[in-house]
Amino acid sequence: MKNNQELMEKIVSLCKRRGFVFPGSEIYGGMANSFDYGPLGVELKNNIKNLWWKHFVHERDDMVGIDAALIMNPKVWQASGHLETFNDPLVECKKCHHRFRADKIESKKCPDCGGEFTKPKQFNLMLKTFLGPVEDAENTVYFRPETAQAMFVDFKNVLETSRKKVPFGIAQIGKAFRNEITPGNFIFRTREFEQMEIEYFIEEKDWKKVFEEWKKEMWSWMTDVLGLDKKNIHELDVPDNERAHYSKKTIDLEYDFSFGRDELYGLAYRTDFDLKNHYKEPPYEDAETGEKFYPHVIEPTWGVDRSVLAVLYDAYAEEKDRVVLKLKPSLAPYKVAVFPLLKNKPELVEKAREVYNMLKREFTVAFDDRGNIGKRYYSQDEIGTPFCVTIDFDTLEKNDVTLRDRDTMKQERIKISDLGNLIKEKV
Ligand code: ATP
Repeated sequence: MKNNQELMEKIVSLCKRRGFVFPGSEIYGGMANSFDYGPLGVELKNNIKNLWWKHFVHERDDMVGIDAALIMNPKVWQASGHLETFNDPLVECKKCHHRFRADKIESKKCPDCGGEFTKPKQFNLMLKTFLGPVEDAENTVYFRPETAQAMFVDFKNVLETSRKKVPFGIAQIGKAFRNEITPGNFIFRTREFEQMEIEYFIEEKDWKKVFEEWKKEMWSWMTDVLGLDKKNIHELDVPDNERAHYSKKTIDLEYDFSFGRDELYGLAYRTDFDLKNHYKEPPYEDAETGEKFYPHVIEPTWGVDRSVLAVLYDAYAEEKDRVVLKLKPSLAPYKVAVFPLLKNKPELVEKAREVYNMLKREFTVAFDDRGNIGKRYYSQDEIGTPFCVTIDFDTLEKNDVTLRDRDTMKQERIKISDLGNLIKEKV
């Protein structure tokens, strides 16, 4: 386990210095636990989301997507049980009045001052606001705490327009909000975050089989698509008394973060709980038998921000005199960087611009002409750029360039005309 505070500090500092993640509202003194993704962070995050959508929606026949409103009719949250039961146990220190989530603290004394705690009370995590000019109960609405409910509420519309048959899934990527008692650990736990979720509709008899299939899919996503090291991932079968109110079985996929092992993703068997709560009549009819029923649901769910954090942890490496993010090329914000050997030779700069513009049509490309080549390599290593291309005097004669590999640091001469295909193959 990469278990040290120092590593977290290094990652936070790299994120800020290189434009992955900034503290939110910083010029106004910041806002606790709010973060903004910078130019490189948004590329990394979008790569994760796009790969997920391609992998789980576009490449499958049994999946469709939606993009629903963040604020839904409050009746949705009444029916789903969130207003009543989406709670965490809160304790308060009697001495310093700091508040903690009772299920997340190990000691019986306050970690800040050693004081005694109050008895735990249930704290609802729904984030409230008002729609319209009057701030009263009638106009109270909630930011969604999960994307999932929209898949249930839109179930009939999706069914009627997509002609999908059980088993099939509805996928969504979007923001969710929870009034967390103790946000923290950088982007691990915030009050505003992003989820990638699938509600997969099945017949009840198939739930165990489908649950196992999705578990495999989630492992494959973590190891094959994100490239996370298997050693850092663990399955936790969530015990009865700790499962969400809707779940009959839940597995948390946990990751060894530097602050400890904690949930990266979840997989839950939600039974027919949600569809039954939202629809008076069974919303699904078997086309062949005419039987009407409530499909059951397997829900694999992925946090986007926790994905970004795990990917950064796994990729971060310090080697001799360089820091390198060994990101899978498909995740890297820039796929390639282009350098003219010397900044003050217009013919080199012009040629480098030409190669840069050519590659830009297909990839995200950085251009750098500052300092010496060694420094430029290290600067790209630190943000995970898998390839660097240098244009030198030989290029002008032979139309070839030096291609340098981030991980092996090996350099080879490549024809400009072969560059695009070679990078495409590796990305
Ligand atoms: P936790 O036990 O950490 O509070 P949870 O079990 O309540 O999480 P789920 O309801 O299963 O979380 O949410 C699905 C996914 O959304 C999680 O696996 C996680 O990746 C992500 N997630 C949940 N809460 C947050 C948060 N406050 N900040 C960032 N990501 C979150």
